[in-house]
Amino acid sequence: MERIHNCYRPVRERVKDFAEVERRLSEKEVREQTARCMDCGIPFCHGAGCPLANHIPDENAAVARGDYKRAYELLSLESDFPEFTARVCPALCEAACCHQLDEESVMVRQSEKFIIETAFAKGWVVPRPPARENGLKAAVVGAGPAGLSAAVTLRRQGYAVTVFEQEQEIGGLLRYGIPYFKLDKQIIDRRRAILEAEGIRFFTGVKVGEDVSAEYLKRRFERLVLAIGTPAARDLKIPGRGKAGIHFALEYLGQMARGENRIDAKGKRVVVIGGGDTGSDCVGTANRQGARSVVQIELMPKPPAERSETTPWPAWPYKLRTSSSHEEGCERRWCVNSLEFTGGDAVEGVRTEKVEWEGGKFTPLPGTEETIPADLVLLAMGFTGVGAENKLVKDLGLGLTPRTSVLSRPEENVFAVGDCATGASLVVRAIAHARNAFA
Ligand SMILES: Cc1cc2nc3c(=O)[nH]c(=O)nc-3n(C[C@H](O)[C@H](O)[C@H](O)COP(=O)(O)OP(=O)(O)OC[C@H]3O[C@@H](n4cnc5c(N)ncnc54)[C@H](O)[C@@H]3O)c2cc1C
Repeated sequence: MERIHNCYRPVRERVKDFAEVERRLSEKEVREQTARCMDCGIPFCHGAGCPLANHIPDENAAVARGDYKRAYELLSLESDFPEFTARVCPALCEAACCHQLDEESVMVRQSEKFIIETAFAKGWVVPRPPARENGLKAAVVGAGPAGLSAAVTLRRQGYAVTVFEQEQEIGGLLRYGIPYFKLDKQIIDRRRAILEAEGIRFFTGVKVGEDVSAEYLKRRFERLVLAIGTPAARDLKIPGRGKAGIHFALEYLGQMARGENRIDAKGKRVVVIGGGDTGSDCVGTANRQGARSVVQIELMPKPPAERSETTPWPAWPYKLRTSSSHEEGCERRWCVNSLEFTGGDAVEGVRTEKVEWEGGKFTPLPGTEETIPADLVLLAMGFTGVGAENKLVKDLGLGLTPRTSVLSRPEENVFAVGDCATGASLVVRAIAHARNAFA
């Protein structure tokens, strides 16, 4: 039995809508795929791959024999929100699967999706309020995956948990970053109902530091958790940056969840600057809006097609990744440095040059200047932490690392979890970090 590859809806069909691109595997397919698991003596998927340490070989065995209830029980031992990670996780576990040494890894992410969706359909996912209250109160600032994970963990320990979120809805980047075609937002609402039934209270549309002071929360709650993510996006301060039509990726990607359509790629020549996942999400969104063309440029060289020797198994491999959004139509260019945004009041192009990356530095290649036509430019070059001027951090007198990640102060019961503490990372790592902070 080989690994299945056609897990996505056909490109022609899916670019016409914002519904999830991945099709659901059938029960037969999932059972066959999980049966590929070798139940290795040392399960690297569980120990080295998954930050949550999910019991992957046991889950696989349970699915393969048709015992989905047991599979769900095993999955929920370590994973509070498998329905999120089963949709958006790059599956670090699969990169660490022993099958990587001889063939292709077991399909862990899709089988976890099957387990959790079966559990919801069968009514097995029910609120689990704490057995007893501990009489203490916890405030969580930020309702992204880390904040939600902290809330669940503390609630299970008996804390009365209140989550404050500045946006109108919970989810953080799950809602306002990751596009609908990767994660339908009803999935977040479904989980919210369970969290509320467990006794977690949400106050949305409340910006801590402005609408309520952090100092007040610190005084009123026995635990204060900051899970505020990494809002500071990396900018590209080259000539012409002030022209109309140049936006940060999150301004663009967050629109749909906010019910806005200020930045529309319809009929436009779109240039995405930044070759990572955020850029890829911009590509998929621009194609769905009907962009005339989409070019994605990246400063770094093109990664190798296969796992680089610098990242041997079971490490997460450095290699070229082609997302479902890239498959939908996009020109990708590497070793491209942006010099200037051209045009009048509105952007008309990006003047670029080719560079060579050697010995840890870039060297421009003479005679390679080119202007890529652009009516819309999206900046997707990563995030720089919470920023040196973060008000919450200042108000609480917390320390910052040189990359502006927030340092916890456990002696004062103030904890920083998720991306704001680790730097921009992954949903699964944000969940695991918050969970482990209170384990
Ligand atoms: C476009 C994009 C796509 C991504 N795709 C993936 C993917 O496919 N797979 C993956 O694993 N990871 C992905 N990531 C990374 C992942 O989304 C993050 O690592 C993860 O969401 C971090 O969780 P968090 O809870 O720490 O922070 P966030 O999700 O950023 O949540 C922080 C929350 O805090 C709130 N907040 C901040 N300040 C305040 C305040 N003062 N008062 C109240 N609320 C406040 C914010 O509004 C936000 O809701 C992506 C990231 C981006 C930007």
